[in-house]
Amino acid sequence: MLLRRQFLASPLLLVPYPAWARSLKAGPIEFEVIRRGRSSRRYLHIHGNESTAGEVLRKHMETHLGVAFLIRNSERNIRFEGGELDPNRMFSEEGAQRNLKLLNGSWSPEKLNKALVRLRQHREKILRQILPPAGGLLVALHNNSRGYSVKSELADSDEVALNDESNPHEFFLATQVQDFRILARSPYNAVLQNRRPQVDDGSLSRLASARAVRYVNLEAGLGQFARQREMLDWLERNLP
Ligand SMILES: [Zn+2]
Repeated sequence: MLLRRQFLASPLLLVPYPAWARSLKAGPIEFEVIRRGRSSRRYLHIHGNESTAGEVLRKHMETHLGVAFLIRNSERNIRFEGGELDPNRMFSEEGAQRNLKLLNGSWSPEKLNKALVRLRQHREKILRQILPPAGGLLVALHNNSRGYSVKSELADSDEVALNDESNPHEFFLATQVQDFRILARSPYNAVLQNRRPQVDDGSLSRLASARAVRYVNLEAGLGQFARQREMLDWLERNLP
């Protein structure tokens, strides 16, 4: 939700909506939380090495209402139980189990089980905080470099709008058809993933899709600050 223009004109006029910063800690994961005003918008930066996305979100929260969660970590994976975990693979049992096995090949089945039990408690605590209230929107910002692009998502998508095919690294991924329909009219690439049965990789987009939560993933190449900011602004102006 954009603040009204008169509030943007002078920093002093931002006073009615001061930003509050605090921490959310759940086991191995810690987020910086920026809250401004009252809004059902939620924003997430979950991969610490995707620094452009973090900078875009921080800038965005200077002028927009909602709650932003920024992971306190400088790498993609977090340290967990003496091993590693991709924080965007922990949102289902199945996904977390696969990711923990992949990243911690030397763990025994007992060790893996213990880690999964611990993770279960943290997962619900995190979800209670970051999922938006009914009808609200959660926007997750990511960066990619080489390899991954909108083309990687085509086979898993229910609908596709390749509006900017020459920039495949920049795209929206929506889990609700109403949001996709709007994003598909943008000058940017957009895909919808809401029905097609998929491998549950434990990512937040899969969870959002399964729970019918309004969720948009905003992907841009690492370093594409202006581009990612422009896309977030477009989303902000056009999605309810
Ligand atoms: Zn990411």
